[in-house]
Amino acid sequence: MTPADVLISEVGPRDGLQSVKTTMPTPDKLRWITALHAAGLREIEVGSFVPARLLPQMADAAEVVHHAITLPGLRVMALVPNRRGAEAALAAGVHKITLPVSASEAHSLANVRKTRGQMVDEVREVLALRRERAPGVSVEVGLSTAFGCTLQGSVPEDEVIRLAATLVEAGVDEVGLSDTTGMANPAQVRRLFLRLRAEIGDRAGAAHLHNTRGLGLANCLAAWDVGVRGFDSSQGGLGGCPYAPGASGNVVTEDLVHMFEAMGVRTGVDGAALLAARAVLQQGLPGEPLYGMSVLVADGRH
Ligand code: ZN
Repeated sequence: MTPADVLISEVGPRDGLQSVKTTMPTPDKLRWITALHAAGLREIEVGSFVPARLLPQMADAAEVVHHAITLPGLRVMALVPNRRGAEAALAAGVHKITLPVSASEAHSLANVRKTRGQMVDEVREVLALRRERAPGVSVEVGLSTAFGCTLQGSVPEDEVIRLAATLVEAGVDEVGLSDTTGMANPAQVRRLFLRLRAEIGDRAGAAHLHNTRGLGLANCLAAWDVGVRGFDSSQGGLGGCPYAPGASGNVVTEDLVHMFEAMGVRTGVDGAALLAARAVLQQGLPGEPLYGMSVLVADGRH
């Protein structure tokens, strides 16, 4: 395995696929995940354990996990919203669970009809379940809307940090910050990750940044500058952004790998194999727009 200075966590099979209308057939998902692993990605969020009637794109999550855990050296992660989802994810054999908790009270109520406090209670239940059934599985929380919320506007930084501290006290292994709405700017990313690391040290988790306003890479670089070494991204920026046609949703994996490698920061990911995985993704979702500036250059289209 190539040594790496950063951990790029590929979230396309979850964050990307749940945002596209078409459901990617299971065999195509398995081929894509295999190709991502072959490119050197060592952590993949492969799906989400939510009721199939809410997200039919994720109905095959258990089957996808069964395949992914056979890939050597891969940490297989799934998103779960609650204890019930965690039970299914643990039964399937995931290595890591990630739970979203909104930093914005308005977003929390609109999205999951629960207050942030009630979501913290859900996390506690998942932690109890983990203790009982799978002590080796790690539990991460991504604080969504940490940099701003389309419903309530700004999200006080003190509240973000307090919530992170509460979650770590409850026993969460890592707390990351998510720019769900693409509102973050580099100065804010630097400030908030510095505060997070000062508050919870090594428990500070990944930067999950979106490219809604074109600041995705700049924000990743700002996070890198203050010591963040875990980054979520999605191949081809899959899923786009529902509020900004033409913009990718998540930071594009290809562009993030390109930026780091060009800086001499090792990602462990092979660029050519990553392009091969992109072709597998496109075959599984014909006609779906994929993003990535570095890829346009590689194609000679500029
Ligand atoms: Zn996201």
